[in-house]
Amino acid sequence: MTARIPATLIAGDGIGPEIVEATVAVLDALGSPFEWDPQIAGAAGVKAAGDPLPQATLESIRRTRLALKGPLETPSGGGWRSSNVRLREEFRLFANVRPARTIIPGGRFDNIDLLLVRENLEGLYIGHEHFVQIDDDPHAVAMATGINTRQGCRHILEYAFELGIALGRKKITVVHKANIMKALTGIFLETAQQMYEERYKGRIEMDSIIVDACAMKLVLNPWQFDMLVTTNLFGDILSDLTAGLVGGLGMAPGANIGADAAMFEAVHGSAPDIAGKGLANPTALLLAAAQMLDHVKLGDKAARLRQAIHDTLNVDQVRTGDLGGKASTREYTQALVSRINNG
Ligand code: NAD
Repeated sequence: MTARIPATLIAGDGIGPEIVEATVAVLDALGSPFEWDPQIAGAAGVKAAGDPLPQATLESIRRTRLALKGPLETPSGGGWRSSNVRLREEFRLFANVRPARTIIPGGRFDNIDLLLVRENLEGLYIGHEHFVQIDDDPHAVAMATGINTRQGCRHILEYAFELGIALGRKKITVVHKANIMKALTGIFLETAQQMYEERYKGRIEMDSIIVDACAMKLVLNPWQFDMLVTTNLFGDILSDLTAGLVGGLGMAPGANIGADAAMFEAVHGSAPDIAGKGLANPTALLLAAAQMLDHVKLGDKAARLRQAIHDTLNVDQVRTGDLGGKASTREYTQALVSRINNG
């Protein structure tokens, strides 16, 4: 028997434990290659260890360099800084790869196959913020600093160009706001144009678009895009939009990739409105697990997992409520396990 691959498993908050349990069960049915090291973070970390990112969790990922993670709660306004952002920073997970593919045909948008690559460590998203007091109002002025570096731009753009070429993508669209944020996102656009001229022309097409127009065009005619590459905050927002094109957040996975570590998760959050009710759709995390299998070069298992998801949703027609079905998380998981066992 081949040695199993050590991987950190973070159940997360809200619906996290439900979708992680489902994903582990489905991976087990496939013959999981992973030896899980369960750890905590987010609100669960605060509750159990007084820390949204406990040392034991960091040490586990330092050892495994591989993690599957449920969503982590981050309070809005006050409270702790996002553990997701901290994890991405700690392990220098510079690329966030978020595919949006139609699995259930016949929806509002059909035949979607988009790949969004989001810069994961820089920009306005990193939360370097403070308030300035004026007179007796301590929050009179709110300020945020966005930082994009030439090196950071080159890193993510090189990753995106190389990935697009390796996957046989035709066109990569650089999404920016360089008309207004001339420095912060101008550096991203300018670096892309320079790198394209120097290294990538003729190997893949490239064009560019301002983020607001991109949002509108994605809704009117998403098929005009093939692959998008953009800065952190724009990628955060647009990847929820592209998730909406393929059935919603329950269908959108994401891979956080670094030079020597990777973390796989759903695009969605902890969904507190449905947590603990057995209603969550685990497909996004399952698709993230498929990305994880691809990452460890087990593409055959990844393909079997994607096929089982496709057949359960389309042939067996077992679907959770967000997709218009009646199945609970457990019933859907059971249907997937049966598909794999009988497939
Ligand atoms: P959310 O993504 O948790 O939920 C938005 C809507 O989508 C809700 O109506 C929810 O019920 C639905 N939804 C999401 N995932 C679903 C699934 N798998 N199945 C069925 N329905 C699903 O967004 P939110 O409510 O804005 O955020 C809640 C918390 O999650 C916040 O604390 C936020 O910071 C955190 N968050 C974490 C991550 C992450 O860990 N990567 C990402 C986004 C948000």
